[in-house]
Amino acid sequence: DSVMEKVLQRRSLRLRNMQRAWQESPEGKRMMEFRKSLPSFKEKERLLQAIARNQVVVISGETGCGKTTQLPQYILESEIESGRGAFCNIICTQPRRISAMAVSDRVSAERGEPLGESVGYKVRLEGMKGKNTHLLFCTSGILLRRLLSDRNLNGVTHVFVDEIHERGMNEDFLLIVLKDLLPRRRDLRLILMSATLNAELFSAYYGGAPTIHIPGFTHPVRAHFLEDVLDITGYKLTSFNQIDDYGQDKLWKTQKQLTPRKRKYQITTLVEDALNKTSFETYSSRVRDSLSNWMPDCIGFNLIEAALCHICRKERPGAVLVFMTGWEDITSLKDQLKSHPLLGDPNRILLLTCHGSMATSEQKLIFERPPPNIRKIVLATNMAEASITINDVVFVVDCGKAKETTYDALNNTPCLLPSWISQASARQRRGRAGRVQPGECYHLYPKCVYEAFAEYQLPELLRTPLNSLCLQIKSLQVESIAEFLSAALQPPESLAVFNAIGFLKMIGALDEKENLTNLGKFLSILPVDPKLGKMLIMGAIFRCFDPVLTIVSGLSVRDPFLLPQDKKELAGTAKSRFSAKDYSDHMALVRAYEGWKDAEREGSAYEYCWRNFLSAQTMQAIHSLRKQFSFILKDAGLTDGDMSSNNKLSHSQSLVRAIICAGLYPGIASVVHRETTMSFKTMDDGQVLLYANSVNARYQTIPYPWLVFGEKVKVNAVFIRDSTGVSDSMLILFGGTLHRGVQGGHLKMLDGYIDLFMDPSLADCYLNLKEELDKVIQK
Ligand code: ADP
Ligand code: MG
Repeated sequence: DSVMEKVLQRRSLRLRNMQRAWQESPEGKRMMEFRKSLPSFKEKERLLQAIARNQVVVISGETGCGKTTQLPQYILESEIESGRGAFCNIICTQPRRISAMAVSDRVSAERGEPLGESVGYKVRLEGMKGKNTHLLFCTSGILLRRLLSDRNLNGVTHVFVDEIHERGMNEDFLLIVLKDLLPRRRDLRLILMSATLNAELFSAYYGGAPTIHIPGFTHPVRAHFLEDVLDITGYKLTSFNQIDDYGQDKLWKTQKQLTPRKRKYQITTLVEDALNKTSFETYSSRVRDSLSNWMPDCIGFNLIEAALCHICRKERPGAVLVFMTGWEDITSLKDQLKSHPLLGDPNRILLLTCHGSMATSEQKLIFERPPPNIRKIVLATNMAEASITINDVVFVVDCGKAKETTYDALNNTPCLLPSWISQASARQRRGRAGRVQPGECYHLYPKCVYEAFAEYQLPELLRTPLNSLCLQIKSLQVESIAEFLSAALQPPESLAVFNAIGFLKMIGALDEKENLTNLGKFLSILPVDPKLGKMLIMGAIFRCFDPVLTIVSGLSVRDPFLLPQDKKELAGTAKSRFSAKDYSDHMALVRAYEGWKDAEREGSAYEYCWRNFLSAQTMQAIHSLRKQFSFILKDAGLTDGDMSSNNKLSHSQSLVRAIICAGLYPGIASVVHRETTMSFKTMDDGQVLLYANSVNARYQTIPYPWLVFGEKVKVNAVFIRDSTGVSDSMLILFGGTLHRGVQGGHLKMLDGYIDLFMDPSLADCYLNLKEELDKVIQK
């Protein structure tokens, strides 16, 4: 130990010499000037003292005041200066990987070092750190994963949890785990950082930890809502040319016939009306969809363009920040703007993007000031809301939406759809325009919509299915999930926890004693609902990956088959053309997607969707989700790069059907034929009806004894949406425990399947076995 001590002391001295040399260099001095101008600098001594004296400190301060880049750096600098640099290990978590990367890059530049020296980063699948790294920026997920194998965080001296005001699930989850760790690690320092002023909540959670507020300074920002924006820009709502969905089409037609003033009123009431009705129980998904499509896909693009034109033509100099929902929207808008005479002119406009998957080279450009006479426009996701600060922004254009996972109670699946932001977010976005001088913010939605926004966003923990969370908690070797979660900042309902545990047992992720099974271990790695994760794993194991990938992606987004009120019959016929006597909505989706892909290749995707009553937007979303999922599965080692071997059995209808059954279990209903009528009963003996747009609703009889389904919807009766017919043997072999006491076969647990996967020849044996069993059961 004393040898190690000596090595560390020598390294500490070296660190100190390097730091002093940088601080005395001209560039170092210039950098210091900038750093001293940040509001956090004035509080530096107070902050360091508070952290030295308390195990937990909560720090709040306006975005851009220097929390993330400065505070961990202050600690590092002062440790190095005191000659103990090599003994400290600081970790600072970020909710998003891109901010962990951007921030570490910035901090190492401020220290005059290449990234990976004293400052590094680590995110999933990527990292840059070395033996000299003493300040590490990582995602909260990475720290959670580290806690799995290193429960005491040995060697770590300081943990910063950043952006806790966002109430991300991983952050809330980390706070529980760290709270448990603190008594065991008395020397560990925990610093919580938050942008807004709800610091008391976190302070109370840690037994009255001291809070420090960094006073900031921003300029006033004037807010314009849609009503004003239409006046200011002279934008006519008649020029929608991106009609994609029937809801929009209808909206568009009514708009066209109205005078501008009436049109404005009409659009306001339409949205207001829709917002008032968004209760899950009574509101048809059709209307919900048309509301969610309202922005920014249709009006949004052209309206954004109009707002940008107005700013560039009429307004004073200053960068523009446009808040959009995601990468797809950002790239399509960027494409659209390219051909614009003003906005696409590189001599006048510097058009940049800022989102989770941008290149590092582009990241740097965002912060740079463009040459005079060139206006910088940054198209960004809500990442630019709090975790990234662009100083020269004077104008903000806000679409009012953000893509986030929400918990769709009907689907019992996470949705990856854009949804309206909260009032707090809207204010935060607006504030981004006032960093250097008074600014302007264009909210592209009516004021009434803003007023209907939730005040704050619900913590992610309360709007995410607990199925996956409970699985993760279990992989932290926690005894009782319920007890663990009751320690959360805002604990979820106990019934929700109870349901999740029951469900995990049912699908074989937990055993009777609530311990993780092998399957459970794999499912805990996949960022999807465990049910769908199971389907994906099965698709990979049985090498019919492609169709399963489409089905899982479709179930994670929403139904792409449209059902317009006035064309129900036509739409139903169109959908049934994809069914070909499969008795399966899921297979219909697979065929629709295959057709879409061909059409896309030929450049006729739009006509294809129109003809087949498909939402082009949803098809696109399914397409991009497929890519994400297949990447994740490859990453988890469940598929190899060779798609043809992963798809060796994709043509096998009955296999795909069996795997749908494996995933959707326990969503099953028995098909009861009585003379000329047909009815359906679920496991709890409840009566269910088929959703009107289901291909199975078009048949008099169904030649399968069972239907498996993804979701039940309660309206006035209980409906099942998408369903697939399955045989007894499929249910016995691939479902869980069959009701009425019949035990699913000896292979029911995926534990066994996973072993099979490790030896591919065994999988073939299993398939042969299955066929034989099939025959036996038919007799
Ligand atoms: P906070 O965490 O309080 O929101 P940050 O520490 O992220 O603030 O940023 C402090 C300031 O540092 C910002 O206002 C910005 O001026 C500057 N800054 C941050 N990142 C960069 C960067 N990559 N390039 C240039 N300046 C940056
Ligand atoms: Mg920050």
